[in-house]
Amino acid sequence: MAHVLVVGDGPGGLSAALFLAKKGMQVTVFGKDKTDMHRAMLHNYLGIPEIRGSEFQQIARQQVRSFGASLQDLGVTGIEKTSEGFMVTSEDGGQHQGAYLILAEGKRLELAKSLDLPRTANGVEVDDKGRTAVEGLYVVGRGRGIARSQAIISAGQGATAALDILSREAGRDVKDYDSVSD
Ligand SMILES: Cc1cc2nc3c(=O)[nH]c(=O)nc-3n(C[C@H](O)[C@H](O)[C@H](O)COP(=O)(O)OP(=O)(O)OC[C@H]3O[C@@H](n4cnc5c(N)ncnc54)[C@H](O)[C@@H]3O)c2cc1C
Repeated sequence: MAHVLVVGDGPGGLSAALFLAKKGMQVTVFGKDKTDMHRAMLHNYLGIPEIRGSEFQQIARQQVRSFGASLQDLGVTGIEKTSEGFMVTSEDGGQHQGAYLILAEGKRLELAKSLDLPRTANGVEVDDKGRTAVEGLYVVGRGRGIARSQAIISAGQGATAALDILSREAGRDVKDYDSVSD
């Protein structure tokens, strides 16, 4: 199974990690839980009438961990494209190799800028699955345009990118359905 690196631990990155880890993909998420979600009081996340952003994050992080994703309490300081995918350098000097990279770094876009990715007026240029101009590199969440920043949109974009990676790896369209038991 390919290893997927996710930079950013807000709703976009965690949602991608959830879908990938749930299907058995090896996933590492980098981030120090500094998301703006800690300032939010959510009334617009469908299916959850009301929740503090901090509680949402706590539940989401636990959910992602429960499927086997690794959450690394580290910032990422550099990214390099390699012949096998991507090499990510974390702030402790560690180097982490992955076949795919999902950038979910929020509005700052520092890593996306360091890769010189084509831009739109508001963010990084991607297709409808979150693919960028660099093979294997996705951008999800706020980095795609802060004008429309909502938690549920970031989470949806993370899920879309994850399903695209899963489909590419499987060589067929993958969906993630669980059914009620009889
Ligand atoms: C006051 C306030 C209230 C809000 N209220 C609502 C609301 O009611 N409803 C709603 O839907 N939205 C609300 N939002 C917006 C919501 O917080 C965002 O839409 C959401 O956080 C975007 O998620 P994201 O995953 O795209 O990015 P973010 O949540 O910004 O996550 C990005 C994460 O990546 C991390 N990161 C960045 N660079 C690196 C790096 N180099 N290495 C490692 N980690 C990195 C950041 O620290 C952060 O944790 C509110 C925002 C604010 C400020």
